[in-house]
Amino acid sequence: MSHKRFAICGEKNKGLEEKLIGLGFVRDDVNPDYVFSLGGDGTMLDSVHKYMHLDDVKFVGINYGKLGFYTDFVKDDLDIADIVSNEHYKTEEFRLLELDNNGKKYFALNEILVINPSRTQTIKIYVDEAELETFRGTGLVLSTPSGSTAYNKSLGGAILAPSIDGYQLTEMASINNRVYKTLSSSLVLSHTNVVKLEFDNSDGLLIQVDGDAVDSNCKEIKIKLADKAIKLITRRDTLFLERVKKSFLE
Ligand code: NAP
Ligand code: MN
Repeated sequence: MSHKRFAICGEKNKGLEEKLIGLGFVRDDVNPDYVFSLGGDGTMLDSVHKYMHLDDVKFVGINYGKLGFYTDFVKDDLDIADIVSNEHYKTEEFRLLELDNNGKKYFALNEILVINPSRTQTIKIYVDEAELETFRGTGLVLSTPSGSTAYNKSLGGAILAPSIDGYQLTEMASINNRVYKTLSSSLVLSHTNVVKLEFDNSDGLLIQVDGDAVDSNCKEIKIKLADKAIKLITRRDTLFLERVKKSFLE
């Protein structure tokens, strides 16, 4: 049997590394089978972006006192042997959002953000090549279901159950008056929909993928659900709405 390879991202934990090696794992930061992400959701986003190019890699999030929507385990409560046997844990797939920017592809676990902090940005929004509306305002966020509890939620977007196969478009400070009109509510789209955003111009425009800036010197971008997903190991007993309640209401 070949050895399972692992990488560790985020906080230092010598104990975890020793435990894994004791179980016959081998550290391999280039080609891991498992990536242990120690921290919070921010750390998980970094880990995912570092390793999402590997098709079969599985992510394990260990929470270090952070909010932790993607980090299901707390330090020391993880029986690592179980991860391999799959007895008490499950592997969940999270589909990514795909951004096509001048033929260059980017993938988001949380969201793609289009924002202009300095001037009114005009954006023509198309869904499947049909024009929906002309947005004027600060920006737009397109978020995955698992990203709906992040930036999207701060903007008043809906919380989506992670099993929903779709994504949502949420406005940031749209101008609505006699002259300009937008939908104003969040729009949940299906996995077949392709959104095209056409910019009046890109002066002062920022495009971010999970908080990281990408090239924004462009006339238009396209966004859809990707065929690509990441695999996250979670506890079998985690209930999404319980986590929502604990995170936002208690
Ligand atoms: P960050 O410090 O890494 O994260 C900001 C906060 O968002 C942290 O509390 C983080 O939780 C939480 N978070 C991340 N993903 C989440 C999810 N799927 N559900 C619920 N909470 C989540 O900030 P960053 O490096 O600038 O950007 C990373 C993410 O932060 C972005 O993808 C964006 O969603 C979010 N963000 C939100 C706002 C806003 O709400 N106004 C502004 C900028 C960025 P942990 O404490 O567990 O890390
Ligand atoms: Mn971060």
